[in-house]
Amino acid sequence: MPQVQKKEDNYKLPKKIKLAKYAGFCYGVKRAVETVTKLKAENPDKDVCVLGELIHNTDVINELENLGIKTLGKIPQEGSGICVIRSHGESPEVIEKIKHAGFIPVDLTCPDVKKVQQKAVELAKEGYFVVIVGKSEHPEVVAITANARLWTDRVAVAATVEQLKKYENEIKSHKRVGVVVQTTQRISTLNSIIEYLTSIAKEIHIANTICASTSMRQNEAKELAKNSDLMIVAGSKKSANTTHLAEILKDITTTIHIENAEELENYKDLIEKKENISVTAGASTPQNVIEAVIKRLESF
Ligand code: SF4
Repeated sequence: MPQVQKKEDNYKLPKKIKLAKYAGFCYGVKRAVETVTKLKAENPDKDVCVLGELIHNTDVINELENLGIKTLGKIPQEGSGICVIRSHGESPEVIEKIKHAGFIPVDLTCPDVKKVQQKAVELAKEGYFVVIVGKSEHPEVVAITANARLWTDRVAVAATVEQLKKYENEIKSHKRVGVVVQTTQRISTLNSIIEYLTSIAKEIHIANTICASTSMRQNEAKELAKNSDLMIVAGSKKSANTTHLAEILKDITTTIHIENAEELENYKDLIEKKENISVTAGASTPQNVIEAVIKRLESF
């Protein structure tokens, strides 16, 4: 009598691939890309440039170049036309330099980033020692710090408790501490800084300025990760929000961070062993990159 083979011996079940709802451009990035494109269309005879990369994606920067929108590495001595301030924001000093060079500045700072700048200024004016949670070299943090420093010298920037410890004596003597946080930071980073400050400061005013878009993206991805045996994060390795997202997910499940669909080839063996795969993407990852990732996964 012939042996009946069990179905699972013959077939590998198809993978389940899920795409996060909050993957890709956030509203601040979308607004910046759309506005700059519209500015050039409405001013075809004027030079339109952006100070720094509008978003961390080479294809998008090249597309803007093709439309005649240049990316400036620094402010030239002389210029003309429109110079766009990207969603990360700039310091008042840089905005003055843009005007001085001869450009018309157009400020596309994300409204959520503006709120952090305003809160830092408000705390500085009210006499708080201002703690800015974030990496000191991040362009958004540079601009927040410059705005706060217009009102006080008592400003500390720290991305970890270790970095903040340098200011321990100053904070202890000042007693009142105001905290703001760069919009795409991890909530766990803010929590550890607050825990430390609680042990050394008498009064702490905390403004959780992590933007809603970042919180929704991170929370949704965490939930997906709990039910996935592989998370794929698509987006630039230069992008802080994408890197933070991948870091968070690595604590929950196996996670890979790729910049484009082609990179999936490097993880083919791993992907083929996984059944429940979820995909998310950073705030500066274009839709076509996300679609290509899904398509490539389906082909495995
Ligand atoms: S991540 Fe948040 S703060 Fe940054 S541009 Fe997007 S919406 Fe604005």
